[in-house]
Amino acid sequence: MTKCILIVEDEKPIAEIVKFNLEKEGYRTSVAYDGEEGLHKAIALNPDLILLDVMLPKLDGFQVCREIREISTVPILMLTAKEEEVDKVLGFEMGADDYITKPFGMRELLARVKANLRRADVNTDDKTKGMLTIDKITIDFAKYEVTKSGDIIDLTFREYELFKFLAVQAGQVFTREQLLEQVWGYEYYGDIRTVDVTVRRLREKVEDDSGAPEYIMTRRGVGYYFRGV
Ligand code: CA
Repeated sequence: MTKCILIVEDEKPIAEIVKFNLEKEGYRTSVAYDGEEGLHKAIALNPDLILLDVMLPKLDGFQVCREIREISTVPILMLTAKEEEVDKVLGFEMGADDYITKPFGMRELLARVKANLRRADVNTDDKTKGMLTIDKITIDFAKYEVTKSGDIIDLTFREYELFKFLAVQAGQVFTREQLLEQVWGYEYYGDIRTVDVTVRRLREKVEDDSGAPEYIMTRRGVGYYFRGV
């Protein structure tokens, strides 16, 4: 199975070149440009490995690392611009598995990625267990389950995926085209009305009053978003 690697790096040129090289090696990738987004994606995507920059906006790499470690044993490879020993020590203390110093060569990075993935394969039983709770709603990523005030909501796979995608990035508005691409996938050449239909069904299942939603909101003329907290 294709391994998924999450790249958390705010410097776009570095993120791009790393992404390019990993994809060339056959990995799937996802990029987050700040610590908060990195943390959300680490929970939502359940990646096989995380490349985590230290100096990041919003939450720094050490904080992100510590938060991820509360819920997951995913290999974390820290990217640090500094060579100070203190960074390495702090990184390991926060639960990082390895670190690599910038500027790094792609061959070195790929070798480290491979080594850490191999190490993790020995321990595949420890799957990421994560939950997201917003108001009365809880999403259990390991069980693919959404509960509202403790009651399980019966969702189809796509409904669940759309709900999770929006909830993990609460507050951010997505166009129908973006949702189609992100939730249904690039290979899906569906109609954007598919998104509207799925949202309508989701609201009927999740909202108290689907005509006056409290979770899945419409931004008129743009698309949908999950109400921020
Ligand atoms: Ca940085």
